[in-house]
Amino acid sequence: MDLPQLAIAALGGTVSMQARNAGEGVVPTVSGETLLASVPELTALARVDVETLGLLPSASLDFEFLLSVLSWANFQIKQGAVGVVITQGTDTLEETAAFFDYLWAHDEPLVVTGAMRSAAQAGADGPANLLDACRVALAENSRLRGVQVVMNGQIHAACRVRKTDSLALQAFSSPAFGPCGMLVENITRYLRPPTPRTVLPLPQQTTQKVAMLEASLSADTLLLENILELGYDGLVLGGFGAGHVSQSWADVIEKIARKIPVIVATRTGSGSTAHSSYGFIGGEMDLIRKGVSMAGFLCPRKARILLWLLIGCQRQDELASFLLED
Ligand code: GLU
Repeated sequence: MDLPQLAIAALGGTVSMQARNAGEGVVPTVSGETLLASVPELTALARVDVETLGLLPSASLDFEFLLSVLSWANFQIKQGAVGVVITQGTDTLEETAAFFDYLWAHDEPLVVTGAMRSAAQAGADGPANLLDACRVALAENSRLRGVQVVMNGQIHAACRVRKTDSLALQAFSSPAFGPCGMLVENITRYLRPPTPRTVLPLPQQTTQKVAMLEASLSADTLLLENILELGYDGLVLGGFGAGHVSQSWADVIEKIARKIPVIVATRTGSGSTAHSSYGFIGGEMDLIRKGVSMAGFLCPRKARILLWLLIGCQRQDELASFLLED
């Protein structure tokens, strides 16, 4: 039987980490080929092309590198892959998955996975996550869904997933929405049908800078006051509660929003920003009047990715349509 073609890229992260010498901390050293060797079951499911595109801790991935990974993934689909799997560190996986999702123009799935336990650790979850990710990438029902994150037996939509635990095996969740699917006896099961997606063109420029600040009690306005002078092209704020800031922040934000796009998301970790509930200065109604966009369910980090990509393809005027909630 002709097996489907699957492409896997390793970028680094805990899934690729082990200690060079006993007693030392783990660092990314394990190649994609070695990762692949840890899942011999895969040879019965697919013809696999594997590449090590990086051996980086995920905190050091950047947008330029992600664009090169995307171009590799696009090429794999052109070459006939039915799906693509990317392994990377989990620390920034919620951001990279959203980045890829906004730009993934194929019906075929792109699946991102990693591990919470390093390669040589007892009970390492890397091989299980990789095999699950491959199963999801090979599944017919994964088509038309964009980018999925597969961790610990669950499937999460790229635009919803967050890392919500620093070290636990169950580190990922999609607050307010839940996983969009799971692996049941190795079968890919989705809990919801695919939703229509809007895909952005590749950014023509990559030098734009989008700042992200979190509101906090009694915070000064020094950084905010200097945002424009520092040359930022966009600003994302993790606001209190349903998307609120202090009165002193609101005054400065009004001036900033006249010049560059400003998004306020919630810093709570779950739920949506409000739109028409609170009328105090710094509340969402006041901020909207001042020209701010509310992020809805989009968390601050993903809102920053979205704004960076929109500015990169000169489509920041369409921001509101991307923040509309389903
Ligand atoms: N906990 C992270 C991981 O799971 C650390 C390193 C990284 O994100 O690259 O991979």
